[in-house]
Amino acid sequence: VTLPGLPMGVVSKVDCGDCQACCKKMLILLEDGDDLSRDDWDWTVFGLCRVRKLKHKKNGDCIHLAKNGCAVYDRRPRVCRAFDCEDFVKNHANIRSCGNDPVISEGIRRLANKEKKS
Ligand code: SF4
Ligand code: SF4
Repeated sequence: VTLPGLPMGVVSKVDCGDCQACCKKMLILLEDGDDLSRDDWDWTVFGLCRVRKLKHKKNGDCIHLAKNGCAVYDRRPRVCRAFDCEDFVKNHANIRSCGNDPVISEGIRRLANKEKKS
């Protein structure tokens, strides 16, 4: 699963709490403006394009996922700052059929909770 790129300047309003679904087994694509000075990314082919992605550990977690969360939180890529699983599910009705994906199922759960409260 790939986290989708988002427009510049968008900041997620989701409070992730203890959830780390986005940091596990996801393809985190780097974009212009991200810190590319570190040795934490490599190239991959995605569709017809050659793209930059964060490296993973052997278990599939993001290379920066530490015991207490993101080890580069202040310098995390733009997509990590901007992605909002709840909004993503809300805006992509068809994606709900992918509920076995941890990120999508978390978005469905959060959206359902919000709808229940309103
Ligand atoms: S799935 Fe949602 S709550 Fe979990 S880390 Fe990703 S954006 Fe945050
Ligand atoms: S850089 Fe940090 S926030 Fe982004 S996927 Fe890796 S651990 Fe998660």
